[in-house]
Amino acid sequence: MTLIDVAVPVPLRQTFTYTHTGPLEAGVRVTVPFGNRALVGIVVGKVDAAEYSDKLKPVSTILDSTPVISGGLMAACRWLWQYYHHSPGEVLHTALPVRLRKGEAATFAPEIWYTPTTSGAQTNPATLSRAPKQMACLETLQAESMNESMLKESYSAAIIKSLTDKGLIKSYEDEPQPSERSWLAHWEVSAKPVPDPQQAVAIAAINQQAGKFAPFLLEGVTGSGKTEVYLQAIEPVLQAGKQVLILVPEIGLTPQTVARFAKRFNCEVGVLHSQITDKARLNVWLKARTGQTGIIIGTRSAIFTPLKYPGMIIVDEEHDESFKQQDGLRYHARDLATMRARLEQVPLVLGTATPSLETLNNALTKRYQHLQLTQRAAGATATRQHVLDVKDQPMRFGLAEGTLTLMRQHIDQGNQILVFVNRRGYAPALICHHCGHTETCHSCERPFTVHKAHRRLQCHHCAATRPMPFSCEQCGSKELVTAGVGTEQLEQGLSQLFPDAAQVRIDSDSVRGKDKLQSTLDAINQRQYQILVGTQILSKGHHFPHVTLVVVLDSDGALFSADFRAAEKLAQLVTQLAGRAGRASKPGEMWLQTHNPDHPLLQDLIHNGYGHFARHALLERQMAQLPPFAAQIVVRAEAFDGQQAFDFLMQSGGILQAHQVNLVGPLPSLIEKRQGRFRFMLLLQSAQRKQIHEALRLALPGISALPLAAKVRWSVDVDPTDFS
Ligand code: ADP
Ligand code: ZN
Ligand code: ZN
Repeated sequence: MTLIDVAVPVPLRQTFTYTHTGPLEAGVRVTVPFGNRALVGIVVGKVDAAEYSDKLKPVSTILDSTPVISGGLMAACRWLWQYYHHSPGEVLHTALPVRLRKGEAATFAPEIWYTPTTSGAQTNPATLSRAPKQMACLETLQAESMNESMLKESYSAAIIKSLTDKGLIKSYEDEPQPSERSWLAHWEVSAKPVPDPQQAVAIAAINQQAGKFAPFLLEGVTGSGKTEVYLQAIEPVLQAGKQVLILVPEIGLTPQTVARFAKRFNCEVGVLHSQITDKARLNVWLKARTGQTGIIIGTRSAIFTPLKYPGMIIVDEEHDESFKQQDGLRYHARDLATMRARLEQVPLVLGTATPSLETLNNALTKRYQHLQLTQRAAGATATRQHVLDVKDQPMRFGLAEGTLTLMRQHIDQGNQILVFVNRRGYAPALICHHCGHTETCHSCERPFTVHKAHRRLQCHHCAATRPMPFSCEQCGSKELVTAGVGTEQLEQGLSQLFPDAAQVRIDSDSVRGKDKLQSTLDAINQRQYQILVGTQILSKGHHFPHVTLVVVLDSDGALFSADFRAAEKLAQLVTQLAGRAGRASKPGEMWLQTHNPDHPLLQDLIHNGYGHFARHALLERQMAQLPPFAAQIVVRAEAFDGQQAFDFLMQSGGILQAHQVNLVGPLPSLIEKRQGRFRFMLLLQSAQRKQIHEALRLALPGISALPLAAKVRWSVDVDPTDFS
């Protein structure tokens, strides 16, 4: 009898012991009895036979003959559950495609293939010379049958349909045909630009580190040719028969991105994102695992893709917030990518125009090699940035008179305008509309957050609170305003102010689904709209060559946010937005509305650029002992009865205190109430990462055993990026 250690998908931070007649390999799925249920668990190891008890139950069935999770991926999962203090079973389930979580066989699902019909096989493609794309498509299929995803990377659905309708090609269902390193079979590198000197340096530096763990920050202004660097850097990797995993932000994964990689190397690209079917996901996962697909591109959870021949990991737009999961297993895909690259011994490239301060610090301290691209590649000029002082200006829907005048000019010239509203500015400061003074907590030197429902001001750093003032502390003016207008209100207002200009709103409500976003973006670039109103989505990866004016409605909310990352996020956003607009023939201008035109952050950003701003912001973080110079963990709790959530965190704090850890709170979360539940948080912070992790590890059994732990919803968030 062997004792087997099994990770079971339940929210308990432990593994469970079962028995079996012999040893089982780690990474094999089994079904096990758990309470009165049968669950799919994953073997993580053997247990010391000394722990035997006759209460132990045997494993019910064994689902795999070979492990589904192994090697670097298993090691990465182990790191995940320790580092994020999470249930091992939930971590391993997160790493698996849905079908495997459910216990289905780890075998390929049939996919659609295309091949010439008998008459198609005998047709000379030249007879289709008046439809060159159809001719090329038939020629391709005459040479080799192809699966749908690969065929569609080169030919549109319409071309495939025409050939099918003509009876020249047909589709059939078949399993993927296993072919290891399939990309080498039809290896062909299409025409590529000659890299400029900075690109050449970057490509050479990355390639020099092949086969080793070597992290890089590729800092390149928007449009400087970062993607071109990825393409040329992965070429020798693929050619050596190794695989490349590329992570992109949720919104940056467009068919164009995928096609660019597929076309360069004439190969199939495995695509993974939140909207593909479970069947497709399983196939991509299995193809990667068996070394069939050379390039895998995906969003956050694609970092769990197993690689038989790991060659390189790339994280594009590494600063993007979508890489951090904000519920369940709250991992950061960039940080997991770093760990995986280390475990798999491959180079890691983190690319962005606006590096996160964490990554920048790693580059400046030489832990990461720093590569820079300072010129825009395609001839576009940089957008000129300005601040617009809105103090004492009449405001309409959050827009100042001066802004409206500018907008009118650009509309009359037939150009497009982008108006950005920061929806994250829900925690605004209270600002005097006359003198610009901000109500600030005196013990923390931080702005108070306005809590409208309770008509109070509260400091989220020390929990101090006071009633909402009726007049400015400094000048006595009664005109106190909060920052922030939402997109919907703005859209309504703009249609009154500019009835002659067609507008479109782009936020997560208005562009549900990938196709909707893509079609809206296409319509914008075909100039069907003149005013674009939107959120963060507008700042990501898309180019708007006809936009000549970018307006940022409110910079004050971010300047005085209770979230210490707000300035960094604002600077990234402004820089990314500026990078979207304009081209050589139509240079763009950007205006940031503010009550604080002289604010050093804004001045630094618009005059010296993101790189300068970020280095300065790092010094401030260092002085304030904030991340990346300190590590943080947040314990959150929420309940319909707010007192219970608060008490739970108080008691948790008591347990943690016994392990000598620096605590802040419990404080209300920035969003105090959500879906009827009151929300609180407890912050652990230390310059020594190990210290808070160790304290939490020791305290968690006690915290989990608190009677209130079963009554409130609570969670642990390591390296939190969002304090809402
Ligand atoms: P980024 O990823 O930094 O936004 P891209 O790699 O997409 O930049 O490059 C922007 C544009 O410039 C693309 O159209 C690309 O084909 C082109 N480009 C990039 N590098 C070069 C180069 N060395 N020579 C000519 N064109 C280039
Ligand atoms: Zn005032
Ligand atoms: Zn305070």
